[in-house]
Amino acid sequence: MNGAGDEPLLELVGLTAGYDGVAVVHDVNLSVGAGEVVVLLGANGAGKTTTLSTISGLLPPLEGEVRYLGDPVKISRRRPAASAAALARSGLLHVPEDRGLFNDLTVREHLRLATRPEVGDDHVQLVMDRFPALDPLLDRRAGLLSGGEQQMLALARALVARPRVLMVDELSLGLAPLIVARLLPVLREIADDFGLGVLLVEQHVALALSVAHRGYLMQRGRIVISGDAADLASNLAQFEAGYLGDARSSS
Ligand code: ATP
Repeated sequence: MNGAGDEPLLELVGLTAGYDGVAVVHDVNLSVGAGEVVVLLGANGAGKTTTLSTISGLLPPLEGEVRYLGDPVKISRRRPAASAAALARSGLLHVPEDRGLFNDLTVREHLRLATRPEVGDDHVQLVMDRFPALDPLLDRRAGLLSGGEQQMLALARALVARPRVLMVDELSLGLAPLIVARLLPVLREIADDFGLGVLLVEQHVALALSVAHRGYLMQRGRIVISGDAADLASNLAQFEAGYLGDARSSS
């Protein structure tokens, strides 16, 4: 494992998850260490978002467990949103596909709301240094930002809260390939510099593997290939065949 610690920050152990008692994700084992970027790949409908929603506490696991900082995560079946909020406060943050921004709030207001009292200005500045394009936009409302600027704000807002693990769902959604090629490496730099664990869900296979330490391919709710990102990238044809197999079987 890459990164400082031997113990994973985040671990899925035999995780089965789904909706209304019906499993769509089966027996998933996956880990993310400190300073490590891990990518979860798969065709549409493979179960990636369901996996992230279960990790962040929005869906209770049907079987198996999520371990965060070595302890099993306890999700209240009656109040999953409260469990998810507590988990986020403890440093397990999820940047969802829709980025979760408020159109009428400015960049500065988003960052201020996300910054905890114990987080110093120096950390906020370190985060902002990673996204210099946001600097002239501090007083602009999020609804008026471009897609790439919104994604930068969603990442910066998560990072000022000093997460231990950051999950990013489809960072590339709706963005030009050039913007994606600029943003994905920032996640790798941030993981290295802050000792953060990053779990990335992506459609851009080659680009995602180029910034990740390790990768997993999910097909119809199961992990079918996993390994070192460089090894997976060197077998890209086989990896992409896994994708196409899934897309064909679901069409
Ligand atoms: P995409 O890349 O298209 O977002 P994904 O890999 O994230 O795909 P999921 O969104 O996790 O896949 O969906 C996995 C399966 O669960 C799909 O068959 C989907 O139809 C089903 N599913 C997703 N959300 C719900 C829901 N709220 N209720 C019932 N089934 C759902």
